[in-house]
Amino acid sequence: MKTPPIPLSMISLDNYAEHNLDFNPEKFEEYRGQDELKKKLALYTHAAQLRNEPLDHLLFFGPPGLGKTTLCTLMARVMNVDIKICSGPMLERTGDLVALLSSLKKKDIIFIDEIHRIPTAVEEVLYTAMENFRIDIIIGQGAGAQSVNLPLQPFTLIGATTKTGLISAPLRSRFGILERLDYYSHQELQMIIEDNAHYLATPISSQSALLIAQAARGTPRIAKKLLRRVRDFAQVENNNIIDETITVRALQFLGIDQTGLSQLDNALLKIMIEKFDGGPVGLETLASLLSEDSTTLEEVHEPYLIRMGYLEKSSRGRIIPYKILPRLKKKFFGQETLF
Ligand code: ADP
Repeated sequence: MKTPPIPLSMISLDNYAEHNLDFNPEKFEEYRGQDELKKKLALYTHAAQLRNEPLDHLLFFGPPGLGKTTLCTLMARVMNVDIKICSGPMLERTGDLVALLSSLKKKDIIFIDEIHRIPTAVEEVLYTAMENFRIDIIIGQGAGAQSVNLPLQPFTLIGATTKTGLISAPLRSRFGILERLDYYSHQELQMIIEDNAHYLATPISSQSALLIAQAARGTPRIAKKLLRRVRDFAQVENNNIIDETITVRALQFLGIDQTGLSQLDNALLKIMIEKFDGGPVGLETLASLLSEDSTTLEEVHEPYLIRMGYLEKSSRGRIIPYKILPRLKKKFFGQETLF
């Protein structure tokens, strides 16, 4: 029987592969796309290894699911060091961070996802840790308070954030390398889907892989999730073979159209046309009309709609660009002009 997955926070490189039930790139060649970034990271890791030093602290920007955690584990593997993975909200107290940092060996990597969500008091401990590999903390209160200095092994901190603007200037300035991850092209996602289908021993036609890629919103995590759902269909209805017919039916069943728009994305656009003739309309109004939380709309749905040119933000609210309006009216109502 396979061992159940363990929470990410507890995964170190040793047990990462053992508990991973799906395909994760372990070499730069297996990590598809992000070519410029890969070239730079391969060079930095190689140089650090030649010097027998830890890699410089590194900050990744980019939406979730684009492969930041995967890149970090891959770099740790290439450098033959351990990696500890955690996220900003998990580091509630200074003690949590101190425990984590003091467990690192020379050149180990600590990856903090959503680093913008670390509480300020914890963030301040990071400053000296990153700069001087030392922790300076005050223990106790009042007259009995004592300052404690704890030396650390030279380590690498890799931070990741979706919100560039929320990283404080002092923290940002302590990262030597700042890099952004881009959304993936359909061809790159198609390769990721084919790699994963191969790993899952599920035959897939290249056209089916492309259809899934087109629906995956530029994001490997979504591509993998869609592949697994399409595979469920294939398993039950098509002898575990993913062909075009099965793929189209599965995507329809999931309520995802071929451009990657979900039911909620479509409902949002439809309501904007029906009630506001394309806008402008405020986020809160949209959220209440759709009975959806405004943060989810803003962080999950809008970025893709904006990237695909379906939506624009203006000082007066959200607007469907004038040029695309007739096409959407046709899509939703069968005619280019309404009213
Ligand atoms: P993030 O940390 O940015 O949220 P992850 O590293 O967890 O994203 O990646 C999400 C999933 O997508 C993982 O299962 C990973 O294996 C896969 N993945 C991400 N990027 C790539 C890539 N470039 N090539 C192949 N698989 C990828």
